[in-house]
Amino acid sequence: MAKYIFVTGGVTSSLGKGIIAASLAKLLQARGLRVTIQKFDPYINVDPGTLNPYEHGECYVTEDGAETDLDLGHYERFLNTPTSQANNVTTGRIYQTVITKEREGAYLGKTVQVIPHITDEIKRRILLLGNNGKYDIVITEIGGTVGDIESLPYIESVRQLQWELGSENCLVVHLTLIPYLKAAKELKTKPTQHSVRQLSEAGVHPDVIVCRTEEPMYNDLKKKIALFCNVTVDSVIEASDVPTIYEVPMEMMQERLDQICMQKLRIPVTKEPDLSKWREFLNKLKYPKSKITIGLIGKYVELQDAYKSILESFIHAGAVNECKVVVQNIHSEFLTKENIEEKLANLDGVLVAPGFGNRGIEGKISAVQYVRERGIPFFGICLGMQCAMIEFARDVLGMKDANTTEVNPGTTEPVIDLMEEQKKITAKGGTMRLGAYPCDIKSGTLAYKIYGKNHISERHRHRYEFNNAYLEEFENAGMIASGKNPETGLVEIVELKDHPFFIGSQFHPELKSTVENPHPLFVNFVKAARDYAEKRDASRTGTTDINVNQVTTPKRMAKQE
Ligand code: GLN
Repeated sequence: MAKYIFVTGGVTSSLGKGIIAASLAKLLQARGLRVTIQKFDPYINVDPGTLNPYEHGECYVTEDGAETDLDLGHYERFLNTPTSQANNVTTGRIYQTVITKEREGAYLGKTVQVIPHITDEIKRRILLLGNNGKYDIVITEIGGTVGDIESLPYIESVRQLQWELGSENCLVVHLTLIPYLKAAKELKTKPTQHSVRQLSEAGVHPDVIVCRTEEPMYNDLKKKIALFCNVTVDSVIEASDVPTIYEVPMEMMQERLDQICMQKLRIPVTKEPDLSKWREFLNKLKYPKSKITIGLIGKYVELQDAYKSILESFIHAGAVNECKVVVQNIHSEFLTKENIEEKLANLDGVLVAPGFGNRGIEGKISAVQYVRERGIPFFGICLGMQCAMIEFARDVLGMKDANTTEVNPGTTEPVIDLMEEQKKITAKGGTMRLGAYPCDIKSGTLAYKIYGKNHISERHRHRYEFNNAYLEEFENAGMIASGKNPETGLVEIVELKDHPFFIGSQFHPELKSTVENPHPLFVNFVKAARDYAEKRDASRTGTTDINVNQVTTPKRMAKQE
């Protein structure tokens, strides 16, 4: 039978429950346990797929096509194992299930209530992951902060499960903040005491308290928290700020978080954690031998969380290459032909980000043209790839009106068009082409060189695709479809002949990059950017005559209207 660890949060949001949960999971996994993590989100949306990134950050997509909270990305990046639909549940989803059952007559004659019907459904979904024999430990992160009205049914479900499963099968880790008051030069424990009291009033007593702090905690402070919050001193864990989230597992290991949880769950601590790969990654991350600057062109760049998986993929790929990747955010909405030189000239590579709608799209298209003509490494993801095709159509193939029908439904050159199966869909939630699909890679292409194989599978989230009616014309002019869906022929990867590195993918490679398995497209993009930077610097200092600024693609005349 699986054992359950619940992670709750107190005092304030954004304390990093997801990272603490992922770090604990990593340590338990490194000690030989089979671990998974799930997240419960207390909002009413059925999933975050319909949420604007400004509201909720990036929407992470699982193999089986669930649109989920970005914390699932951290879980996968840390554990290197895929999550699924069952790993992210919202209040909306819980109510949807209960209401559907009510309409079907499942509760005939009964009044349907929060207790027991909603809490039963919450418990069912918690236990679901532990029932299939695949895991020794299921970690459940409860979104929100203790005391929120929305969190109450979840806390109540945890209370019931503690009673039903027994203390050796179930424990609660509570994450709080110990604020530092500059004027008093003191760390304050009162908010923690209050949040633990609030949790206790709901019937749940934390077994372990993890304290986020910006200043070192002294032992007497741990004692004070232990005394006031009724836990043992070694169950008070200090989580001070570290330079990267990837150091948190090491910090938690030093604080013995994993061992304390195992002892409480009566799991013998026999094996030392095997973190050799993780340490190797951290070492490379900390001591890079070179540095590059990549421009991230997107319309949500003011919000870091909107491109979380892309940023993390650069960290993984940078470490492999022992190269520090500085990501420079460039707002596509404010990128114009006039300022493009100033914004892009000093970059070593450009990534055009995914996105929806027309805001900022012309800036993205201009960026593609700039880097295509100058031989600057380019990587376009989803909408980024679509922009690359529009730019090529307009500038190289002379189709001045080329566009995606997402932006201009009346375009005379719909090089990007709505997928056939999307044409009849009107509902917005969960209806895109989502999750993993196979892709065949053409031998002899850059994509083949990068992946080293002909068959791959990648994750998707889109409604539009490259219009294959134009493929021959594109390929004749040097834009190759190097990856295609084997059944439908949908173009998945494009690349430009005669360019040092120009790749677009309809899928989202960033969703599959993990610490132990950095994504090859990112790894090779970083490598290409580093090579470009070296050659450019050498040509500037006169040690090589390689001309990195090259226009290689012959242009066609604009089509006559
Ligand atoms: N808006 C585009 C589409 O739906 C691209 C989506 C994306 O970048 N994720 O096809």
